[in-house]
Amino acid sequence: MEDIIILKFGGSSVSNNENLKIVANKIIDFKNNNPNIVVILSAQGKTTDKLINEAYELTEEVNKRELDALVSCGEQMSAAKLSILLNSLGFPSVSLTGWQAGIYTNNTNQDALIENINTKRICSELESGNIVIITGFQGINENLDITTFGRGGSDTTAVAVAAALKAKNCYIFSDVDGIYSSDPNKVHGTKKLTKLSYDEMLELSNEGAKVLHNRCIEIGKKYNIPIITKSTFNDNYGTVISNQKIEKNEIKSIIKKDVSRISIIGNGIIRNTDAMIKAINFIKQNKLEMLEFNISESKISITFKNFVSDKILEKLHNEICI
Ligand code: ASP
Ligand code: MG
Repeated sequence: MEDIIILKFGGSSVSNNENLKIVANKIIDFKNNNPNIVVILSAQGKTTDKLINEAYELTEEVNKRELDALVSCGEQMSAAKLSILLNSLGFPSVSLTGWQAGIYTNNTNQDALIENINTKRICSELESGNIVIITGFQGINENLDITTFGRGGSDTTAVAVAAALKAKNCYIFSDVDGIYSSDPNKVHGTKKLTKLSYDEMLELSNEGAKVLHNRCIEIGKKYNIPIITKSTFNDNYGTVISNQKIEKNEIKSIIKKDVSRISIIGNGIIRNTDAMIKAINFIKQNKLEMLEFNISESKISITFKNFVSDKILEKLHNEICI
């Protein structure tokens, strides 16, 4: 089969009919250049939160099997709506639930792991010329019960399906257009990164960056699937996460976890003595009290005794990242 492209759209990208139309047009642009398009969809807007809240309004002891049965409906609704729209625009498409798409998982409700994907149905739909739309974050266990992968798990569906189909790449569309050198909501002067390695992205995720579901990066790394994060709402370039070897010990990003830990992330940072000296001088000059200074292959983590303000994060970012 010719190259397969995976396009994943997050909840805010499909939050209403207007946005669904933007998404449909994006998909059509891709379809016009690539015959084989598989779309992974999240539930619309805050639907998943709403469904969870409604379950807990009924009882504090929500049955786990039934919670998965309930929350999986959010993605079924968005996938069916998008398929209705694409068909009406003259682009044949079919929506598949996790089980129809052959996504088999273990039995852990709300945090199920994908065990294997039988791609037969997906491939036969592609061969018939359909755009295939798959509900994110869900599969089926050995008892044929629906399971879900944890909040944000549609990213994991996208990259796992990409791996199973040996897709060319996997686009993750959302309302942000890429990964930045620090949190742009807290720090002025951040820049968007064009490239990141899987390890750098894993470190960022572990330090609290909420851009991607952690497990999707592990899968991308294992099966070497380039993950491209882009905005649904503009055509700006995004960030490509892949395994290209980056020789330079370049600092990529600075992130604050909790209130007293800052991490500086970049491949090979362990050999970047310049960065270490800069960090230590910064701590001295700003009279910060440090509890721990840890260095690993791609991360320097500093834990401070006291609360570290966003201003300090910004100052360090602007000294080290720019
Ligand atoms: N709809 C699910 C959630 O809100 C899964 C996802 O969007 O990735 O967590
Ligand atoms: Mg998400």
